[in-house]
Amino acid sequence: MSTRRGTGVANDAASSNPFGTAMTTRTHPEAATASALMAAPRIRKEAASLAVRPHWCADETAGGAFSWAAMRARLAGLPGGGLNIAFEALDRPVREGRGAHLALHWLGEDGDERRFTYDGLRRQANRFADAVTRLGLVRGERLFVLAPRLPELYVAILGALKAGVVVSPLFSAFGPEPIATRMSLGQARALVTTSGLFARKVAPVLAQIPTLAHVLLIDDGSGPLPAGTHDLGALLRDASDDFECAPTRPDEMALLHFTSGTTGRPKGAVHVHEAVVTHYATGLYALDLHAEDIFWCTADPGWVTGMSYGVIAPLLHGVTMIVDEAEFDPERWYRILAERNVSVWYTAPTAIRMLMKAGSELARRFPHPKLRFVASVGEPLNPEAVTWGVEALGLPIHDNWWQTETGGIMVANAPAFDIQPGSMGRPLPGIEAAVVERLAGGGIRLIDEPGEQGELALKRGWPSMFRGYLNEDERYRKCFAGDWYLTGDVVRRDAEGAFWFVGRADDVIKSAGHLIGPFEVESALMEHPAVVEAGVIGKPDPLLGEVVKAFVALRPGFEPGDALQRELMAHARKRLGAAVAPKEIAFVPALPHTRSGKIMRRLLKARELGLPEGDTSTIETGS
Ligand code: ATP
Ligand code: MG
Repeated sequence: MSTRRGTGVANDAASSNPFGTAMTTRTHPEAATASALMAAPRIRKEAASLAVRPHWCADETAGGAFSWAAMRARLAGLPGGGLNIAFEALDRPVREGRGAHLALHWLGEDGDERRFTYDGLRRQANRFADAVTRLGLVRGERLFVLAPRLPELYVAILGALKAGVVVSPLFSAFGPEPIATRMSLGQARALVTTSGLFARKVAPVLAQIPTLAHVLLIDDGSGPLPAGTHDLGALLRDASDDFECAPTRPDEMALLHFTSGTTGRPKGAVHVHEAVVTHYATGLYALDLHAEDIFWCTADPGWVTGMSYGVIAPLLHGVTMIVDEAEFDPERWYRILAERNVSVWYTAPTAIRMLMKAGSELARRFPHPKLRFVASVGEPLNPEAVTWGVEALGLPIHDNWWQTETGGIMVANAPAFDIQPGSMGRPLPGIEAAVVERLAGGGIRLIDEPGEQGELALKRGWPSMFRGYLNEDERYRKCFAGDWYLTGDVVRRDAEGAFWFVGRADDVIKSAGHLIGPFEVESALMEHPAVVEAGVIGKPDPLLGEVVKAFVALRPGFEPGDALQRELMAHARKRLGAAVAPKEIAFVPALPHTRSGKIMRRLLKARELGLPEGDTSTIETGS
């Protein structure tokens, strides 16, 4: 395994068992299965040789020095105890002397570039805030954004927040129905979109959104703007770049985020301005942002990752953020990393698997000496993918975990800590995480034994915790047991305190009395050179309850067939043991994904069983 100067990474061939001697075999009787996810060598970090001293070092912060109050005190706040996300993201850096620093470096699909300094972006956001205030939008009303990753999208988000208007982002590839459903659920008062998207996707469903009073269009040259709509460019030109930030309270609603819809109908998660404290803390401890960094978050602001880490957190830390308008393309992405001197990169497992598919040679054609930290979120990151990072990028990929409801990163692999590939890391400072079992009657039992699996729970009290599901109070209440928020994800904790993802509670397979996590089976299959991606489900079986079935997409150059199927079965049995290995393997050209890049196992299952597909509003076209 290669190491490289300045990355602080070394590989440990003699991997230790992170579950310690107390490793329980309750869930997997065969010894082979207990360690299936843990077979990859530990990646050791040598703090002294890291290019930049991390904000979170093993000897600091984790100890007790951390407090949310101290984090809050690093922010400016508003007079009278107010707090506003956009004020912290734009006005605070400007006041601290970073006004001339490059905030947003936009790369257009066709090669155009636009650059905004902190002060430039602040002035544009002020203009937007002034314009919508003049239109009559008031604090607490909802503005939806539906746009490609254009600079105007960022200006609109930040400007609306500054005006105290609630922002709800929609992914621009949504079709008319998902747009209408979310906008009517969220009682949209205003919409920012492009003229083309408006004509194609919003105009046909306008009648379903009776609350919508203002449509602000980014003119994309697709024709004259329809009557009754506003030209955003003209509004911005006519507005003032001086705007006094709305006196928003910390507990005031700021963002309405719809979940990815991986497990069912998307939920609207309510977030407040106080979330900015988590965005700040996680920008420090999980992403290790330093003021001179060039940071690229590949997620679209239509999803929570693209909002919390593609807009807010980087600006809070005064870094330069890269925004690429174009869709995924391996060569383009490598070029951006190399030519734009990206130093910190935050991306997703699906993208990494697609880069793996494109081959390490392509990665090595574009050296990127400035890149020092790579992180990933959204789905479990297979150990294969973590170590591929070392081989192809010269850096391991740091998995971290969170969800729309948590508003920010909760559990992470951070630069100063060793990585055990397959683990999602440890709780960040300020986050108390536990493994719990739900008891009949509503209570929970905390599971202390390392290695035993249960639901991941988080102790209430972190600032970016969601404050409700829109119009679903009962569902929200059911997410809590006393002081604990129950995440719906099944995990194990090892003897060192790191967490390992097993599966979503809905996806965990019960076969012959064993609980089987799809992630472990998928990761074992991915170790085989023929497999680029795998999705695993439980298929009802009269004898065993459920049997494991795997859907496998192959790398270019491999042909599906009986021989390969037998080979994969044998590989899985060897790695996982007979009770956990798939009983059936089907080859598919590609797996169904959500538009945010997650494997939709519920869809694999519905299709397998001939059941209704349920809500497919977030499915990637062609899946
Ligand atoms: P829905 O709640 O509508 O079904 P979703 O849960 O996919 O959709 P998000 O909030 O976007 O919506 O995703 C959060 C979920 O993604 C987590 O609960 C977890 O299941 C999964 N996830 C995120 N990061 C990781 C990770 N590092 N490892 C494993 N799973 C992850
Ligand atoms: Mg969810």
